[in-house]
Amino acid sequence: MISQVSASAVPQVGPATAGITRSRAGLVDQNVFSVDVEDYFHVEAFSDVVDRTAWESYPCRVEANTQRLLDLLDECEVQGTFFILGWVAERYPQLVREIVARGHEPACHSYWHRLIYKLDRAEFAADTRRAKDLIEQAAGEAVLGYRAPSYSITMQSLWALDVLAETGFTYDSSIFPIRHDVYGIPDAPRRPFLVTTSAGPIVEFPITTFRMVGEHNLPVGGGGYLRILPFWYTKLGYRRARAENLPLIAYIHPWEVDPDQPRLGGRRRSRLRHYTNLGKTHDRLRRLLALGRFSSFRGSGLADTARAVPFPSTV
Ligand SMILES: [Zn+2]
Repeated sequence: MISQVSASAVPQVGPATAGITRSRAGLVDQNVFSVDVEDYFHVEAFSDVVDRTAWESYPCRVEANTQRLLDLLDECEVQGTFFILGWVAERYPQLVREIVARGHEPACHSYWHRLIYKLDRAEFAADTRRAKDLIEQAAGEAVLGYRAPSYSITMQSLWALDVLAETGFTYDSSIFPIRHDVYGIPDAPRRPFLVTTSAGPIVEFPITTFRMVGEHNLPVGGGGYLRILPFWYTKLGYRRARAENLPLIAYIHPWEVDPDQPRLGGRRRSRLRHYTNLGKTHDRLRRLLALGRFSSFRGSGLADTARAVPFPSTV
């Protein structure tokens, strides 16, 4: 089914939508910076060697690492969106308060960091409500945005967008339009778009991709792609995405700026992805933030650019 939503039904993502800037050519000159606030032992790559019931026994480094990111964002005068794990918000409510006090937008990254396509609807709804409540209690303001653990809203779990709309979210940034072994909807729209759900429309901000030849999407601007690949790749991808008038949706995890984190076992590929270039990420983030204008999702005004496009509807 094709989604069709009138402009008047566009959900409000934030109060600052009038602040959007357009270049002389009419291009939207705006990017988004986001942080998925989780610790090194929460990640999917090590979920086979780290049991969730043992999370309490690992030394937490998320507070100090998030502070490093907050300091860098202050230095670069950027206010971003922080998708916070409910488990973290419950244990470190003062960290959530500090994120908000320093001008950033609080948002939700689930409670248990489980892949959505491995949950049923009731499990996902319960996890999401629990996390949203904890983050809102700590933040003292409404949480409107969601990002799935490991971008796990795929064709198998599009029903999650209905649950998010039902739970009061106005936007989601969990769809990655690439092919990958864990996530991705390769033929999803590549710019912000509206999805019709059983509980009303929700804005989707897909993670940025660019193209070199043909219709093949390449990922750019965040996580392992920023950390592992050389910086010229990020610059090239940024320029190509901007040439298509696509915003860069940048993202990072606090553990990616922590070269001294304890080493975990696990599969070779997981260790390679997780530990490569941890000492280089902080500097690369500074260079990334110098490429253009960055803000939070709420402050970006990009929700106003979202249009209903042909995409499988969830209703
Ligand atoms: Zn995550």
